[in-house]
Amino acid sequence: MKKWVLTLWLVIILIVPGVVSAWSGKCVGVSDGDTISVMHGGKAEKIRLNGIDCPESGQAFGKKAKQFTSDMVFGKTVEVFPYEKDRYGRTVADIFICGKILSIELVRAGLAWHYKQYSDDEILAVLELDARNRKVGLWADSNPIPPWDWRHGAKDATATEEQPSSSPPSETIVLPPPEPTKTPATTTRQTLSIIYHGNTQSHIFHGPGCRYYNCKSCTAVFRSREEAINAGYRPCKVCNP
Ligand SMILES: [Zn+2]
Repeated sequence: MKKWVLTLWLVIILIVPGVVSAWSGKCVGVSDGDTISVMHGGKAEKIRLNGIDCPESGQAFGKKAKQFTSDMVFGKTVEVFPYEKDRYGRTVADIFICGKILSIELVRAGLAWHYKQYSDDEILAVLELDARNRKVGLWADSNPIPPWDWRHGAKDATATEEQPSSSPPSETIVLPPPEPTKTPATTTRQTLSIIYHGNTQSHIFHGPGCRYYNCKSCTAVFRSREEAINAGYRPCKVCNP
């Protein structure tokens, strides 16, 4: 992890006391890749890593993710930067260890998904794209099942996507055309704002705002129309991306 990120954390902690109350403790348990236990005030506190979702233990790479986390933090003293409690009473937090952030290392290694439903962290988004492109870890599989789908079971996996139809769509969502890239400073944000999602079953791709954008099988990610089309996908008739 870059030094400036750590410095930024330090600045936040020093300048805005109370907003972030980091603490440290020994990691005494690893439930899976994204859930660990850390000693805090004399007892073990369950920590759910912020912004990511690791494959479940029954999924491919679930055990690898757990092993990776274990190797990084088990038995060691970690820094905990808490955000909130989740509905299971776990502390949602970033974990720092030896100058690294555990969630970032997991995504970088292809052992975790950026949990987009709960996180708009651009670093995690970029690292996931990069891991996908490098086909590392779980991305070696061309169509890995997101853990949040896995947990809900595959039974409704086919119910939510449009079927190709000969009749014209009843509603048309018109999206503004992607803005041209202006300066290097804004490239990353603009690129990220026009990510397309491709359905790996139907090979149709959707733009942000489409009702099918986050469909079950829409796990392919493209940063441009060209990239999607070159990969053999065709634009959705509903959102006309
Ligand atoms: Zn669409």
